[in-house]
Amino acid sequence: MASIKTRLFEQGLNLVVEMLRGLEQGPDLRADGRVLQRIAELGKSARESDAAEDSHIPEAPQIGEPIIPETAGETADEPPKQEKRAQAFEELRTQVLACTKCPHLVAFRHSVVFGVGNPTAELMFVGEAPGTDEDMQGEPFVGRAGELLTKIIETMGFQRSGVYIANVLKCRPDIPPGTPGNRQPTPAEMQTCLPYLRQQIELIQPKVMVALGATAMRGLFGKVDPMKDMRGRWHSFGSIPVMATFHPSYLLRNQALSEKRKVWEDMLQVLERLGHPISERQKNYFPTR
Ligand code: URA
Repeated sequence: MASIKTRLFEQGLNLVVEMLRGLEQGPDLRADGRVLQRIAELGKSARESDAAEDSHIPEAPQIGEPIIPETAGETADEPPKQEKRAQAFEELRTQVLACTKCPHLVAFRHSVVFGVGNPTAELMFVGEAPGTDEDMQGEPFVGRAGELLTKIIETMGFQRSGVYIANVLKCRPDIPPGTPGNRQPTPAEMQTCLPYLRQQIELIQPKVMVALGATAMRGLFGKVDPMKDMRGRWHSFGSIPVMATFHPSYLLRNQALSEKRKVWEDMLQVLERLGHPISERQKNYFPTR
């Protein structure tokens, strides 16, 4: 069926044809005046229909601007903003769990690893992609690196369930059968999956985020600098400050106290930014001398 705009356009054309015919037969200014008025009316209707259609096009969310439009005044019947946010979060989860955008990953995965924790957390951790354990359990950071991340979170004074943890990629990157280990996500895979992470961030609206490792930094910002240059510094994802730090699996590979201290100093900066009190004991973890 033709849209309103198409129908208006056709009517407009008919009028122009009518006007030209009128001119052919000799100028009749009164008739032309009516035709011009009709054209003006059609133009107004077309502009109004444009505005009505545009209001249904969902704009790509800008990070820092709420994904759920602020209502001027919520009525008693409307669910409060928090409830709408929770509902949008569950809808997003349902959508992501059913994602089939990367057929090679769909064929390989046991589960889609959406994320875990408090969807209204002030602090959000972003890792790279699920590994074997995460793929089997459907939860991010549950393997050895995950245990270490949980310790870091608890040492900061949070519970794992009080923060939010997600990955850039929601499916485990496929590897040839019988091959041990994991592989890094490709840029194309990260590009495909990033809109989901962006929506999670929009809905959670954390005050601060932590990017765990180089792949998370590449996924979030497209940055390919060495981790040693990016860590310990603030980066901005829209309006959200992001602290870059080493991935916990790096700390598992490199047990030097100096590396643990670096990650810990990054986390102290996070606590400070969140305005959390830092005890003397916390300040002095992992002393290097
Ligand atoms: N490493 C990650 O980056 N994410 C996980 O979920 C597990 C390990």
